[in-house]
Amino acid sequence: MERQPMPIALVSHCLLNQNAKVSDGAICPGVVSPVIDLLRRRNHRMVQMPCPEFTFAGPDRWWQSKEQYDTPTYREHCRELARAVVDELAADPSAADTEVVVIGIDGSPSSGVDLITSAPDWRGEPGRSDAWTVVPGRGVWIEELEAEIRSRGLRPPCLIGVGMDLPGATPDSLRRDLESGLAG
Ligand code: SF4
Repeated sequence: MERQPMPIALVSHCLLNQNAKVSDGAICPGVVSPVIDLLRRRNHRMVQMPCPEFTFAGPDRWWQSKEQYDTPTYREHCRELARAVVDELAADPSAADTEVVVIGIDGSPSSGVDLITSAPDWRGEPGRSDAWTVVPGRGVWIEELEAEIRSRGLRPPCLIGVGMDLPGATPDSLRRDLESGLAG
């Protein structure tokens, strides 16, 4: 009997490394275990993607909105990372026939799938952190990753956002987000 290839999960970096989050953004130490355990139980082959914000602005960056990250330089940075992620996928001959799931982070200006942080008027004094809202939209990194996958002719991935950057997020609420995304 022919073996089905294991589905591939392209996992947002911070689900496996909470130290990449912006200061005070981590919801637990280290790994978000309930999410990773669920992927393991579902037999997904996990690929940890790079963190676009950490590699661009380091660990001491401010919390920013999508409008602030949406610059040509940051997009080029994301495109460069996306090329490396898709190179890794394309190097695997079985990937063309394999289901690929991208696990993004809802609420993130970079990694949001369905929801992002928006603050069109943020500038200057970083203490003015009360003027942001969560709105529907894709993060800059996910937009560039999707575009790179499309441009290379690979099968379009299933995109699932877990709400780590939304108020009240816990490791278990992220697991529930993932469960409902995989069921949908
Ligand atoms: S949500 Fe995306 S940009 Fe933010 S820490 Fe996680 S991987 Fe990095």
